[in-house]
Amino acid sequence: MLDRTPHLRGRAYTDIVLGLYVHIPFCAAICNYCNFNRGLFDRELKDRYLSALVSEIAAAGDGTPADTIFFGGGTPSMLEPDEIGSIVEALRLYFALTPGAEVTLEANPETVTLANLEGFRQAGVNRLSFGVQSFRDAELARLGRLHSSARAEEAFQMARQAGFSNVSLDLMMWLPQQSVADWLQSVDSLIRIGPDHASLYLLEIYPNAPLRDAMARGQWSQAPDDDAADMYLAAMERLEHAGLVQYEISNVARGGLESRHNRKYWTGGSWLGFGCGAHSTRDGVRWKNTSSTESYVSAVARGDSCRTDLHVLSEEERLEEVLFMGLRLVEGVDVEAIARDFGVDVWRRYGADLQPFVSQELLVYDRPRLRLTRPGMLLANEIMRVFISPSVR
Ligand code: SF4
Repeated sequence: MLDRTPHLRGRAYTDIVLGLYVHIPFCAAICNYCNFNRGLFDRELKDRYLSALVSEIAAAGDGTPADTIFFGGGTPSMLEPDEIGSIVEALRLYFALTPGAEVTLEANPETVTLANLEGFRQAGVNRLSFGVQSFRDAELARLGRLHSSARAEEAFQMARQAGFSNVSLDLMMWLPQQSVADWLQSVDSLIRIGPDHASLYLLEIYPNAPLRDAMARGQWSQAPDDDAADMYLAAMERLEHAGLVQYEISNVARGGLESRHNRKYWTGGSWLGFGCGAHSTRDGVRWKNTSSTESYVSAVARGDSCRTDLHVLSEEERLEEVLFMGLRLVEGVDVEAIARDFGVDVWRRYGADLQPFVSQELLVYDRPRLRLTRPGMLLANEIMRVFISPSVR
């Protein structure tokens, strides 16, 4: 059983209504840029994994209210609807799921049919997040994705037909050989299709990614940095014009359909993660489950803890987190709330270092809110370094 810190200042930043994350680490093929915790689908391992998930949920469940569930991966849509349903039921049994809870399933376009989408809805899923990445087939092929642009659009239409009124699409920018015009073509396709939410990510190529070799072989390159900035700014402008309003560095939504689950990460909420490699943060205590699928399944089967890296956040770490994550939101952070909860006057402590960014219109201090401007979001990492204590900068 975890020790909980008995009293925490900054408590207003924790949300007693939990978010619940469930990791599904299986994929039909491994994309050449992927750095997530995933492996190839294996039916026998999947069966054992699902049993382990239910056991982990049962052991952790304490009836606490929860208002979001997020199935992430991997490719959660590779599971059968009744398998998703049994996990939702376990969560419902061991936590107090609030009425109207947001239940998101990440889906890859090639895995869905009208029948399984209807099944997911019946299983309790009410939000879909499709990993589209691009609406240009040549770009999808370079990334090793299994779907085409047409298949992504078809998947979206089937989701609507199945009754999903909250659908998000992910796109990735700065892809190999992608020009600003190519990127905006994908953005325009997304706007035409009309999702309720979209996430835009910058492709990061990690050191050992097979994509690096493929790029060398194919002599593919990424556009210059300045073009990446143009991609971001032009996309946000077009999306906003189309009614998809930016609310976070990488996220836009229509009509307030922001991701309630992800909001917990950005506003110092509490969440529990189930499955291999899942992270949890609850009442200022953080931990991570063992990453390997096999080790996770074996630990749970033996009745051992699968939790690693347990860390009680210090008050300084909690403050840093509130500033780092909160500034990702367009609304920024409320410095008066921080003064109340942490006893820290943010402007007195960091103002001298932040003022140059304010002067360059990258940051706005409109008391009580401190927020990044859109150009500031492009330099978020540099600006946020101000909040890291000098010893670890
Ligand atoms: S589908 Fe997603 S999780 Fe699976 S390999 Fe591709 S990028 Fe990684």
